[in-house]
Amino acid sequence: MSVIFDNTYARLPERFYARLAPTPVSAPEQLRLNTDLAAALGLDPHWLSSAEGLVMLSGNRVPAGAAPLAMAYAGHQFGNFVPQLGDGRALLLGEVVDAQGQRWDLQLKGSGRTPFSRMGDGRSALGPALREYVVSEAMHALGVPTTRALAVLRTGEAVFRETALPGGLLVRVARGHLRVGSFEYFAARHDRAAIETLTNYAIERLYPDAAQASVPALALLAAVQEAQARLIARWMQVGFIHGVMNTDNMALSGETIDYGPCAFMDHYHPATVYSSIDLQGRYAYANQPHIAQWNLARLAETLLGLIADDQNEAVALAKALLERFPRIFEDHWLAGMRAKLGLETAHPGDADLVRDYLQLMQAGQADFTLSFRRLSTALHDDEPALLALFSGQQAEVQAWLARWRQRLTLEASTSEDIRTLMDQHNPARIPRNHQLEAVIEAAVDREDYDPFHHLVDALARPYRSDASLAEYDRPPRPDEVVRATFCGT
Ligand code: AMP
Ligand code: MG
Repeated sequence: MSVIFDNTYARLPERFYARLAPTPVSAPEQLRLNTDLAAALGLDPHWLSSAEGLVMLSGNRVPAGAAPLAMAYAGHQFGNFVPQLGDGRALLLGEVVDAQGQRWDLQLKGSGRTPFSRMGDGRSALGPALREYVVSEAMHALGVPTTRALAVLRTGEAVFRETALPGGLLVRVARGHLRVGSFEYFAARHDRAAIETLTNYAIERLYPDAAQASVPALALLAAVQEAQARLIARWMQVGFIHGVMNTDNMALSGETIDYGPCAFMDHYHPATVYSSIDLQGRYAYANQPHIAQWNLARLAETLLGLIADDQNEAVALAKALLERFPRIFEDHWLAGMRAKLGLETAHPGDADLVRDYLQLMQAGQADFTLSFRRLSTALHDDEPALLALFSGQQAEVQAWLARWRQRLTLEASTSEDIRTLMDQHNPARIPRNHQLEAVIEAAVDREDYDPFHHLVDALARPYRSDASLAEYDRPPRPDEVVRATFCGT
């Protein structure tokens, strides 16, 4: 059984993309196939693992029914507009529809040069491909909307960055690869017809309810805003820092996209930045909601002509909508944070309770993930494991715990319920930077892929306590701390 494609994006006008086949690679080898995801997509994992499947996933042959293309898009990178970016090292192979009728893009990332490659080679090193596999699948298991990883391959070829590195290829799956930058591409060209086509396409594919609204473009903007507010709240709740929230890396679907220099925080600090190129901290942890709103404003600008004929009226409508972002974000954030504290009901003062705990983490340089995970052990009087995470701050944390326990008395739930709720919202393990680096080093330097497989497996059930995985749960020792990440493109 091969793959049945149905390619809607390829049926859009020709100026939306460049059609081309992937550039073959010399000796592809499948390192991991995501069999659960394959099955969910209605693809046969056995076929994908076969020689024929490998030929397709490596891009060495275009399968029947596929219509490979590089999507055109622009983007604001670190605030500066670049009118042409586009898929420079990726190709949309085609779309598949699962048993539930959900449509998915299959994309080959690292598939060779395209008309959008500029100075790049269109390839990916193995390290970043493994990194994206681990982190995107971990995000999915954590319950964060994200693009997925169907497979990762070694290409058998070298790519040249600062040195020669083994080449890799990631097969990425998404509900849709439309980005804010897709709209900006046509807005920069004053191509109103294209914006209209793209808007209708986005509505039909991602937010069909918006078609019924009196102003569909405004309803699309509202839906994207809702999806982004929800997404960024989830990032904040698991300590995720995207690292490069350029408008070309913001998907209309509300999926996390582009796992370049991203990282999970170890100890909590709102100003945390890992990306080596984010010198101003534009994409720092605590800045992410603000940047999402900024990016949404860039999307809104491209839609003005479809929102109202009168420019002033269009601006007023879009502005009124975007002003709601902080409120929508805060609601999602607080709802998730309440669950992390074991709270099912809402009371005034809950936001302060959360913020005060974060403040204590910051002052005590406490590990973000474990400070929440171990909180349930301190439901009663068993505090040492939690207190050990804070340097100093012992009396302050104890005073906060007393406040928290007092707040919990307003809940009808039993201690058991509270513990269960907390353990379902506070992961025991996240993809820690030092673990990721170790895995990539083993694969790239020693061709040892076992650590990669073990890490992927360990992160598949992040909310389950498992003594055998204790090594993955612990924060880095001082000598293991990773301070900077690189996109490695
Ligand atoms: P990114 O920083 O990954 O969001 O990529 C920004 C732009 O650079 C996109 O247009 C990418 O397609 C392009 N790009 C990144 N890496 C490469 C590469 N190795 N070859 C060609 N284009 C690339
Ligand atoms: Mg990108």
